[in-house]
Amino acid sequence: MHHFIYKNGLLHAEDVPLPQIAKAVGTPFYCYSTATLTQQYTIFSNAIEGLNAEVCFAIKANSNLAVLSLLAKLGAGADVVSGGELRLALKAGVPSEKIVFSGVGKTEEELRLALDTGIGQINVESEPELRTLSAIAADAGKTALIALRINPDVDPGSHDKISTGRRTDKFGISWKLAPSLYRTARELPGIDPAGIAVHIGSQITSLGPFESAFLRVSDMVTKLRADGFNIRTLDLGGGLGVPYVHDDNAIVPTPKAYGDMVRRTVGHLGCKLAFEPGRIIAGNAGILVTRVIYVKDTEDQRFIIVDAGMNDLVRPAMYDANHDVLTVTEPRLKDVLQPVEIVGPVCETADRFTKESYLPPIKPGDLLAILTAGAYGAVMSSSYNTRPLVPEVMVRSEEFFAIRRRPHFEEMIALEGLPPWLK
Ligand SMILES: *Cc1c(COP(=O)(O)O)cnc(C)c1O
Repeated sequence: MHHFIYKNGLLHAEDVPLPQIAKAVGTPFYCYSTATLTQQYTIFSNAIEGLNAEVCFAIKANSNLAVLSLLAKLGAGADVVSGGELRLALKAGVPSEKIVFSGVGKTEEELRLALDTGIGQINVESEPELRTLSAIAADAGKTALIALRINPDVDPGSHDKISTGRRTDKFGISWKLAPSLYRTARELPGIDPAGIAVHIGSQITSLGPFESAFLRVSDMVTKLRADGFNIRTLDLGGGLGVPYVHDDNAIVPTPKAYGDMVRRTVGHLGCKLAFEPGRIIAGNAGILVTRVIYVKDTEDQRFIIVDAGMNDLVRPAMYDANHDVLTVTEPRLKDVLQPVEIVGPVCETADRFTKESYLPPIKPGDLLAILTAGAYGAVMSSSYNTRPLVPEVMVRSEEFFAIRRRPHFEEMIALEGLPPWLK
């Protein structure tokens, strides 16, 4: 699954022992494996082989420039959700025609940037956005290739906060109202309604919801074509789940099974396809390495207090996520595993990585690795509690490089200033 494994008694990232990186960049830090990123991208691409398709990595899952450059070299396109991400994708070397732009609140400035850079497709999520884009495109004498993102009203069976395709969610255009908006789009200047887009959520662990959504999309293609539309692209979004704890492996669908389902549901339509995987590419390719500060025993439990906090990895606090945690020193056979609660230093009770982990005896100074932190990890971090953003390190066999360094205190507060009356 990934390349974080024990060798000679120590957890390694590929061929680099993690204590060596900790010594070089300090803790906590994110660490990404080139081999795992490559493997995951390849597995996904192979799963959809034979389909006329583009894999547009969802940059919001991991937007580090080095990670994007690696994926761009492997042939990935990009799914972007802001002007910043669009610029980043271009800087990483993603060809503009392989970029799709999603999101419910694109500003005029962002839409203009998208048209100016000639990206492949803009996924429109509302009538006002459609009219704004039309005005900008017509004004610039350009035609925007668009898809309407439809809301298929499907519950993906994932966490509430990452479900996006139910009728009460803010995303997309109701699949019932979409046909009439396509007719509006056809009449508007500067708009070519070329496709349909759908994305129903993230960390989806069964194929059923995808299948329901894709069948609705397939139905809509048939209806729109009968109405004279030249529908030629389908953007099927991302959302495939990954194993977070070891016993998840059995429940997560494989990319291969997903690919077969895609063929079954929309393969016959002759459309060019786009996929927007994020988590399945980057999730298991990254870990967060942290050092134990204190071991605190109370009447009820043992707290392992580490130097990473919810500001560095918010998923447990935000989505009730469980991540496997490993000791960097390999447990010995005779070690008795003890139940511990792993918490950070941030002044919030929500600052907890695991409620009950079974770990070998731990002492201050030990290193722990929080697994499956490569997606929605570093990108969602903040400097809450005036803690510097943590460095990110990329490993390739026995080499490693800090692809983002830790900021100094002065850099952290450089944007702040005192008004004259407080000086
Ligand atoms: C977040 C997002 C994705 C990526 O989802 P994953 O679960 O990481 O694969 C893809 N498309 C859109 C529109 C998104 O918002």
